[in-house]
Amino acid sequence: MSRRRTGRAVINRQRRDRLLRQLRVRDGDDCRWCLQPIDFDLPREDPMAWTFDHIQPHTDGGTYTRNNLQLMHGTCNHLEGRWEQLARKWRSE
Ligand SMILES: [Zn+2]
Repeated sequence: MSRRRTGRAVINRQRRDRLLRQLRVRDGDDCRWCLQPIDFDLPREDPMAWTFDHIQPHTDGGTYTRNNLQLMHGTCNHLEGRWEQLARKWRSE
């Protein structure tokens, strides 16, 4: 296998903005993890800025499509990922 896997999906800005609009119409402006509103004007590097969360992780074959995405604060997305790791570990013990 020569195909490089970076573990990070890349989408262009236009597609990202369109997905963001679609998700806000579908789910509203609240974080799917903590249910608090997201401030969409925060800079990307702010821990409370919005992020796409993959419902099925793309490392497990999840795709970058509307049906597989939800909106979360960066911090919450990180916590959720950590939580999933722990849950997997507990299940395997
Ligand atoms: Zn949140």
